[in-house]
Amino acid sequence: MKNEMTLAFDSISENEGFARVAVAAFVTQLNPTLEEVADIKTAVSEAVTNAIIHGYPGEVHKVVVRARLSEGMAEMWIVDEGVGIPDVKKAMEPLYTSRPEQERSGMGFMFMEAFMDQVKVESSVGMGTTVYMNKRIGQGAQEQEG
Ligand code: ATP
Ligand code: MG
Repeated sequence: MKNEMTLAFDSISENEGFARVAVAAFVTQLNPTLEEVADIKTAVSEAVTNAIIHGYPGEVHKVVVRARLSEGMAEMWIVDEGVGIPDVKKAMEPLYTSRPEQERSGMGFMFMEAFMDQVKVESSVGMGTTVYMNKRIGQGAQEQEG
């Protein structure tokens, strides 16, 4: 099976919960475990929050979330056309935050990497940021069927 969806929404914090639940609902087609759903919700939530607060600081523009399901695999892209990240490697270091004064702790990329199988970030300053993540899903369910 293959199935794709795209969501575009305003970069306001209320939409973080919407995006997280929408992606989780889409992924249920792969028969994920509760833990897999929770992992995806956490990772999407972190990436969307980053797009909203870091990508578009003080401004409202569109955040796009794409998800693609294939056999036993969920892939997602969280895209903003915001300020971009000058040094992706540094930004992804555990506990690095450019906003320590805003009670940020630099844990977002750590969670994404911990809960997903793969996380890749493409960004350029002034152009925006795309976070790609994937996770194998539903292996338990497949074993039960077989
Ligand atoms: P926390 O997620 O714990 O609240 P944080 O958001 O600062 O803190 P990370 O999510 O790990 O930590 O992100 C690290 C840094 O990467 C951010 O402080 C920010 O500088 C940069 N960053 C992440 N995502 C984006 C984005 N979409 N656009 C611009 N900068 C980003
Ligand atoms: Mg963050």
